[in-house]
Amino acid sequence: MVLDHCRAYALSFPQDDDYIKVCEHEHDARCDRCELLPTVFREIQKVVGSVDCSAEERNEMEYEISQGIQSIQSWKAHLLRAINQDAARHEVLENLDTQSVFIVMDWAMKFLPRKFHESQSDWFEKRGIPWHVSVAMKRNANDETEMLTFVHAFETCNQDSSTVLSIVDDVFGQLKEIMPEVNSVYLRDDNAGCYHCASTLLSVFQLATKHEIELKRFDFSDPQGGKGSCDCKAATIKCHMRIHLNSGHDIETASQMRTAIESSGGIASVSVTVSSPQPTTKSTPVKWEGISFINNIAYTNKGLHVWRAYGIGSGKFLPWSNFCRQGGGPFLSSTNVKRVPVLKFLSRLSKPSDKQSEDRF
Ligand SMILES: [Zn+2]
Ligand SMILES: [Zn+2]
Repeated sequence: MVLDHCRAYALSFPQDDDYIKVCEHEHDARCDRCELLPTVFREIQKVVGSVDCSAEERNEMEYEISQGIQSIQSWKAHLLRAINQDAARHEVLENLDTQSVFIVMDWAMKFLPRKFHESQSDWFEKRGIPWHVSVAMKRNANDETEMLTFVHAFETCNQDSSTVLSIVDDVFGQLKEIMPEVNSVYLRDDNAGCYHCASTLLSVFQLATKHEIELKRFDFSDPQGGKGSCDCKAATIKCHMRIHLNSGHDIETASQMRTAIESSGGIASVSVTVSSPQPTTKSTPVKWEGISFINNIAYTNKGLHVWRAYGIGSGKFLPWSNFCRQGGGPFLSSTNVKRVPVLKFLSRLSKPSDKQSEDRF
Protein backbone atom coordinates (compact mmCIF):
# COMPACT_ATOMS: atom_id res chain seq x y z
CA MET A 1 0.00 0.00 0.00
CA VAL A 2 1.22 3.49 -0.86
CA LEU A 3 1.42 5.67 2.25
CA ASP A 4 -0.33 8.54 0.50
CA HIS A 5 -3.23 6.28 -0.42
CA CYS A 6 -3.92 5.02 3.10
CA ARG A 7 -6.93 6.71 4.65
CA ALA A 8 -6.46 4.89 7.95
CA TYR A 9 -2.90 6.15 8.27
CA ALA A 10 -3.73 9.72 7.25
CA LEU A 11 -6.70 10.05 9.60
CA SER A 12 -5.29 8.24 12.62
CA PHE A 13 -4.36 10.51 15.49
CA PRO A 14 -0.98 9.28 16.74
CA GLN A 15 -1.28 10.94 20.18
CA ASP A 16 -4.28 8.85 21.20
CA ASP A 17 -4.64 5.07 20.88
CA ASP A 18 -8.44 5.34 20.78
CA TYR A 19 -8.22 7.23 17.51
CA ILE A 20 -5.69 5.05 15.71
CA LYS A 21 -6.54 2.48 13.10
CA VAL A 22 -3.74 -0.02 12.78
CA CYS A 23 -3.02 -1.06 9.21
CA GLU A 24 -2.54 -4.71 8.39
CA HIS A 25 -0.42 -3.85 5.39
CA GLU A 26 3.00 -2.31 4.87
CA HIS A 27 3.33 1.20 3.50
CA ASP A 28 6.16 0.27 1.19
CA ALA A 29 4.68 0.72 -2.28
CA ARG A 30 5.35 3.79 -4.41
CA CYS A 31 3.06 5.80 -6.65
CA ASP A 32 4.49 7.89 -9.48
CA ARG A 33 1.54 10.21 -9.57
CA CYS A 34 1.62 10.97 -5.84
CA GLU A 35 5.31 11.75 -6.11
CA LEU A 36 4.67 14.29 -8.86
CA LEU A 37 3.29 16.94 -6.51
CA PRO A 38 6.28 17.19 -4.12
CA THR A 39 8.56 17.04 -7.16
CA VAL A 40 6.76 20.02 -8.69
CA PHE A 41 7.02 21.92 -5.39
CA ARG A 42 10.76 21.27 -5.27
CA GLU A 43 11.24 22.30 -8.90
CA ILE A 44 9.40 25.57 -8.43
CA GLN A 45 11.38 26.39 -5.30
CA LYS A 46 14.61 25.61 -7.12
CA VAL A 47 13.74 27.87 -10.05
CA VAL A 48 12.84 30.77 -7.73
CA GLY A 49 16.25 30.45 -6.14
CA SER A 50 17.96 31.06 -9.46
CA VAL A 51 15.75 33.85 -10.87
CA ASP A 52 17.52 37.12 -11.49
CA CYS A 53 15.68 39.58 -9.26
CA SER A 54 16.02 41.72 -6.15
CA ALA A 55 16.07 40.09 -2.71
CA GLU A 56 12.76 41.71 -1.91
CA GLU A 57 11.12 40.30 -5.02
CA ARG A 58 12.54 36.87 -4.25
CA ASN A 59 11.20 36.98 -0.70
CA GLU A 60 7.81 37.91 -1.98
CA MET A 61 7.80 35.06 -4.50
CA GLU A 62 8.99 32.55 -1.92
CA TYR A 63 6.23 33.65 0.42
CA GLU A 64 3.58 33.33 -2.30
CA ILE A 65 4.83 29.87 -3.21
CA SER A 66 4.89 28.58 0.35
CA GLN A 67 1.34 29.88 0.84
CA GLY A 68 0.32 28.12 -2.36
CA ILE A 69 1.89 24.85 -1.26
CA GLN A 70 0.10 25.07 2.07
CA SER A 71 -3.24 25.70 0.38
CA ILE A 72 -2.78 22.75 -1.96
CA GLN A 73 -1.90 20.49 0.94
CA SER A 74 -4.86 21.58 3.04
CA TRP A 75 -7.12 21.08 0.02
CA LYS A 76 -5.79 17.52 -0.30
CA ALA A 77 -6.42 16.95 3.41
CA HIS A 78 -9.93 18.36 3.10
CA LEU A 79 -10.73 16.02 0.21
CA LEU A 80 -9.53 13.05 2.21
CA ARG A 81 -11.57 13.98 5.30
CA ALA A 82 -14.62 14.77 3.17
CA ILE A 83 -14.48 11.36 1.47
CA ASN A 84 -14.04 9.60 4.80
CA GLN A 85 -16.89 11.49 6.48
CA ASP A 86 -19.00 10.72 3.44
CA ALA A 87 -18.59 7.03 4.20
CA ALA A 88 -20.64 7.65 7.37
CA ARG A 89 -23.46 9.07 5.24
CA HIS A 90 -23.35 6.11 2.87
CA GLU A 91 -23.52 3.65 5.75
CA VAL A 92 -26.49 5.42 7.32
CA LEU A 93 -28.32 5.53 3.98
CA GLU A 94 -27.66 1.86 3.41
CA ASN A 95 -29.04 0.91 6.82
CA LEU A 96 -32.18 3.02 6.65
CA ASP A 97 -35.48 1.21 6.90
CA THR A 98 -39.15 2.14 6.99
CA GLN A 99 -38.95 3.23 10.64
CA SER A 100 -35.68 5.15 10.66
CA VAL A 101 -35.04 8.61 9.27
CA PHE A 102 -31.85 10.33 8.24
CA ILE A 103 -31.93 14.12 8.58
CA VAL A 104 -29.42 16.51 7.01
CA MET A 105 -29.62 20.05 8.35
CA ASP A 106 -28.20 23.36 7.30
CA TRP A 107 -28.81 27.09 7.39
CA ALA A 108 -29.52 28.23 3.85
CA MET A 109 -27.95 31.46 2.65
CA LYS A 110 -30.05 34.28 4.08
CA PHE A 111 -32.78 35.22 1.67
CA LEU A 112 -32.49 38.84 0.61
CA PRO A 113 -35.91 40.49 0.73
CA ARG A 114 -37.18 41.33 -2.74
CA LYS A 115 -39.91 43.54 -4.05
CA PHE A 116 -41.53 42.93 -7.38
CA HIS A 117 -41.05 46.61 -8.34
CA GLU A 118 -37.73 47.31 -6.82
CA SER A 119 -35.97 50.63 -7.04
CA GLN A 120 -32.24 50.93 -6.66
CA SER A 121 -32.61 52.44 -3.18
CA ASP A 122 -34.68 49.44 -1.99
CA TRP A 123 -31.74 47.24 -2.67
CA PHE A 124 -29.58 48.83 -0.03
CA GLU A 125 -29.65 48.29 3.72
CA LYS A 126 -31.16 44.88 3.35
CA ARG A 127 -31.32 42.42 6.14
CA GLY A 128 -31.57 38.85 4.93
CA ILE A 129 -34.29 36.48 6.13
CA PRO A 130 -32.67 33.56 8.00
CA TRP A 131 -34.02 30.20 6.97
CA HIS A 132 -33.06 26.67 7.90
CA VAL A 133 -33.49 23.55 5.79
CA SER A 134 -33.80 19.99 7.16
CA VAL A 135 -34.03 17.24 4.58
CA ALA A 136 -35.37 13.95 5.96
CA MET A 137 -34.89 10.65 4.14
CA LYS A 138 -36.29 7.19 4.72
CA ARG A 139 -36.87 3.95 2.85
CA ASN A 140 -40.34 2.85 1.82
CA ALA A 141 -41.65 -0.70 1.65
CA ASN A 142 -40.30 -1.02 -1.91
CA ASP A 143 -36.84 -0.07 -0.69
CA GLU A 144 -36.94 3.29 -2.45
CA THR A 145 -35.61 6.40 -0.74
CA GLU A 146 -38.27 8.98 0.10
CA MET A 147 -37.68 12.58 1.11
CA LEU A 148 -39.41 15.27 3.06
CA THR A 149 -38.12 18.79 3.67
CA PHE A 150 -38.74 21.03 6.67
CA VAL A 151 -38.12 24.74 6.16
CA HIS A 152 -37.97 27.09 9.12
CA ALA A 153 -38.04 30.79 8.30
CA PHE A 154 -37.43 33.43 10.95
CA GLU A 155 -38.28 37.11 11.13
CA THR A 156 -35.10 37.42 13.14
CA CYS A 157 -33.06 34.91 15.06
CA ASN A 158 -29.63 34.11 16.36
CA GLN A 159 -28.27 31.20 14.39
CA ASP A 160 -27.15 29.57 17.62
CA SER A 161 -27.51 26.31 19.49
CA SER A 162 -30.77 27.25 21.17
CA THR A 163 -32.40 28.08 17.81
CA VAL A 164 -31.06 24.86 16.29
CA LEU A 165 -32.48 22.86 19.21
CA SER A 166 -35.90 24.48 18.80
CA ILE A 167 -35.83 23.58 15.13
CA VAL A 168 -34.83 19.97 15.87
CA ASP A 169 -37.61 19.76 18.47
CA ASP A 170 -40.13 20.95 15.90
CA VAL A 171 -38.80 18.61 13.19
CA PHE A 172 -39.00 15.59 15.53
CA GLY A 173 -42.55 16.60 16.49
CA GLN A 174 -43.64 16.95 12.86
CA LEU A 175 -41.96 13.66 11.93
CA LYS A 176 -43.78 11.84 14.70
CA GLU A 177 -47.07 13.30 13.46
CA ILE A 178 -46.41 12.39 9.84
CA MET A 179 -44.98 8.94 10.50
CA PRO A 180 -45.91 7.73 14.00
CA GLU A 181 -43.94 4.54 13.35
CA VAL A 182 -40.61 6.40 13.31
CA ASN A 183 -38.39 4.95 16.01
CA SER A 184 -34.89 6.14 15.21
CA VAL A 185 -33.12 9.09 13.64
CA TYR A 186 -29.65 9.86 12.34
CA LEU A 187 -28.51 13.47 12.13
CA ARG A 188 -25.91 15.07 9.96
CA ASP A 189 -24.72 18.60 9.32
CA ASP A 190 -21.70 20.70 8.67
CA ASN A 191 -19.28 21.98 11.21
CA ALA A 192 -21.01 25.25 12.02
CA GLY A 193 -20.68 26.19 15.69
CA CYS A 194 -24.42 26.11 16.37
CA TYR A 195 -24.40 22.34 15.73
CA HIS A 196 -20.90 21.45 16.84
CA CYS A 197 -21.20 22.46 20.49
CA ALA A 198 -21.87 20.67 23.75
CA SER A 199 -25.34 22.10 24.29
CA THR A 200 -26.60 20.95 20.87
CA LEU A 201 -24.93 17.55 20.89
CA LEU A 202 -26.13 16.68 24.39
CA SER A 203 -29.63 18.19 24.40
CA VAL A 204 -30.52 16.75 21.03
CA PHE A 205 -30.59 13.28 22.57
CA GLN A 206 -33.06 14.43 25.23
CA LEU A 207 -35.22 16.03 22.56
CA ALA A 208 -35.37 12.76 20.64
CA THR A 209 -36.27 10.86 23.81
CA LYS A 210 -39.03 13.38 24.52
CA HIS A 211 -40.57 12.48 21.16
CA GLU A 212 -40.03 8.75 21.80
CA ILE A 213 -37.44 8.54 19.09
CA GLU A 214 -34.02 7.01 19.52
CA LEU A 215 -31.19 9.23 18.32
CA LYS A 216 -28.65 6.83 16.84
CA ARG A 217 -25.91 9.01 15.40
CA PHE A 218 -24.75 12.54 14.81
CA ASP A 219 -22.14 12.90 12.08
CA PHE A 220 -20.45 16.01 10.81
CA SER A 221 -19.39 16.54 7.26
CA ASP A 222 -16.18 18.36 6.51
CA PRO A 223 -17.13 22.01 5.89
CA GLN A 224 -18.56 22.39 2.40
CA GLY A 225 -18.56 18.66 1.80
CA GLY A 226 -21.62 16.50 2.05
CA LYS A 227 -24.65 18.60 2.87
CA GLY A 228 -25.56 18.76 -0.80
CA SER A 229 -29.13 17.66 -0.18
CA CYS A 230 -29.88 20.92 1.67
CA ASP A 231 -28.21 23.09 -0.97
CA CYS A 232 -30.06 21.23 -3.66
CA LYS A 233 -33.45 21.61 -1.93
CA ALA A 234 -32.77 25.27 -1.11
CA ALA A 235 -32.09 25.91 -4.80
CA THR A 236 -35.41 24.33 -5.78
CA ILE A 237 -37.23 26.40 -3.16
CA LYS A 238 -35.55 29.64 -4.25
CA CYS A 239 -36.52 28.90 -7.82
CA HIS A 240 -40.16 28.46 -6.74
CA MET A 241 -40.02 31.74 -4.78
CA ARG A 242 -38.64 33.58 -7.81
CA ILE A 243 -41.65 32.54 -9.88
CA HIS A 244 -43.94 33.95 -7.18
CA LEU A 245 -41.91 37.16 -7.09
CA ASN A 246 -41.99 37.54 -10.84
CA SER A 247 -45.76 37.22 -10.86
CA GLY A 248 -45.95 40.48 -8.93
CA HIS A 249 -45.46 39.72 -5.23
CA ASP A 250 -43.01 40.99 -2.65
CA ILE A 251 -40.99 38.73 -0.40
CA GLU A 252 -39.80 40.92 2.42
CA THR A 253 -40.67 38.94 5.52
CA ALA A 254 -40.54 35.34 6.69
CA SER A 255 -44.34 35.10 6.36
CA GLN A 256 -44.21 36.30 2.77
CA MET A 257 -41.48 33.77 2.21
CA ARG A 258 -43.82 31.03 3.36
CA THR A 259 -46.60 32.37 1.13
CA ALA A 260 -44.15 32.26 -1.77
CA ILE A 261 -43.08 28.69 -1.02
CA GLU A 262 -46.70 27.59 -0.67
CA SER A 263 -47.82 29.47 -3.80
CA SER A 264 -49.21 27.56 -6.79
CA GLY A 265 -49.86 24.50 -4.69
CA GLY A 266 -46.50 24.63 -2.93
CA ILE A 267 -43.58 22.33 -3.49
CA ALA A 268 -44.13 18.61 -3.10
CA SER A 269 -43.23 17.35 0.38
CA VAL A 270 -41.90 20.65 1.70
CA SER A 271 -43.21 21.95 5.02
CA VAL A 272 -42.70 25.59 6.01
CA THR A 273 -42.82 26.91 9.55
CA VAL A 274 -42.54 30.62 10.31
CA SER A 275 -41.16 31.54 13.69
CA SER A 276 -41.50 34.72 15.60
CA PRO A 277 -38.35 36.06 17.26
CA GLN A 278 -36.83 33.44 19.52
CA PRO A 279 -36.63 34.14 23.23
CA THR A 280 -33.01 34.37 24.22
CA THR A 281 -32.54 31.48 26.58
CA LYS A 282 -29.58 31.67 28.85
CA SER A 283 -28.23 28.20 29.33
CA THR A 284 -25.26 27.36 31.46
CA PRO A 285 -22.47 26.34 29.14
CA VAL A 286 -21.57 22.67 29.40
CA LYS A 287 -17.90 21.78 29.51
CA TRP A 288 -16.74 19.26 26.97
CA GLU A 289 -13.05 19.28 26.36
CA GLY A 290 -11.87 18.41 22.87
CA ILE A 291 -15.35 18.59 21.36
CA SER A 292 -14.05 20.46 18.32
CA PHE A 293 -12.05 17.38 17.26
CA ILE A 294 -15.03 15.05 17.42
CA ASN A 295 -16.77 14.43 14.12
CA ASN A 296 -18.81 11.27 14.70
CA ILE A 297 -21.05 10.34 17.61
CA ALA A 298 -23.05 7.19 18.30
CA TYR A 299 -25.60 7.63 21.10
CA THR A 300 -26.76 5.09 23.66
CA ASN A 301 -28.75 5.36 26.87
CA LYS A 302 -25.51 5.07 28.81
CA GLY A 303 -23.56 7.74 26.97
CA LEU A 304 -21.86 8.75 23.77
CA HIS A 305 -19.31 6.93 21.69
CA VAL A 306 -17.15 9.44 19.83
CA TRP A 307 -14.56 9.43 17.03
CA ARG A 308 -12.35 12.05 15.46
CA ALA A 309 -12.77 10.53 12.00
CA TYR A 310 -15.36 8.02 10.82
CA GLY A 311 -14.27 4.43 11.35
CA ILE A 312 -10.78 5.32 12.56
CA GLY A 313 -9.90 3.57 15.82
CA SER A 314 -12.05 2.21 18.62
CA GLY A 315 -13.21 5.69 19.65
CA LYS A 316 -13.95 6.88 23.17
CA PHE A 317 -16.96 6.22 25.35
CA LEU A 318 -18.22 9.19 27.36
CA PRO A 319 -20.89 8.32 29.94
CA TRP A 320 -23.72 10.79 30.43
CA SER A 321 -22.50 11.31 33.98
CA ASN A 322 -19.50 13.16 32.51
CA PHE A 323 -21.78 15.99 31.66
CA CYS A 324 -23.99 18.11 33.75
CA ARG A 325 -27.18 17.63 31.75
CA GLN A 326 -29.45 20.56 31.19
CA GLY A 327 -33.10 20.40 32.01
CA GLY A 328 -35.93 21.81 29.93
CA GLY A 329 -34.81 22.85 26.53
CA PRO A 330 -35.71 25.50 24.05
CA PHE A 331 -38.90 25.22 22.11
CA LEU A 332 -39.77 26.84 18.85
CA SER A 333 -42.09 29.77 19.17
CA SER A 334 -43.97 29.48 15.94
CA THR A 335 -46.48 31.91 14.60
CA ASN A 336 -49.38 30.78 12.46
CA VAL A 337 -48.16 27.24 12.37
CA LYS A 338 -50.00 26.13 9.30
CA ARG A 339 -48.93 22.92 7.72
CA VAL A 340 -49.41 21.79 4.17
CA PRO A 341 -52.54 19.62 4.58
CA VAL A 342 -51.29 16.27 3.34
CA LEU A 343 -47.62 16.31 4.02
CA LYS A 344 -45.90 13.07 3.26
CA PHE A 345 -42.62 11.64 2.23
CA LEU A 346 -42.17 11.50 -1.51
CA SER A 347 -40.08 9.18 -3.58
CA ARG A 348 -37.09 10.67 -5.31
CA LEU A 349 -37.44 10.86 -9.05
CA SER A 350 -34.32 8.83 -9.71
CA LYS A 351 -33.64 5.25 -8.81
CA PRO A 352 -31.79 4.67 -5.55
CA SER A 353 -29.18 2.68 -7.42
CA ASP A 354 -28.33 5.75 -9.48
CA LYS A 355 -24.90 6.57 -8.12
CA GLN A 356 -24.85 10.15 -9.33
CA SER A 357 -28.07 11.15 -7.66
CA GLU A 358 -27.04 9.36 -4.49
CA ASP A 359 -24.08 11.72 -4.31
CA ARG A 360 -26.39 14.69 -4.03
CA PHE A 361 -27.47 13.64 -0.56
ZN1 LIG B 1 -2.21 1.75 5.89
ZN1 LIG C 1 -0.89 7.84 -5.70
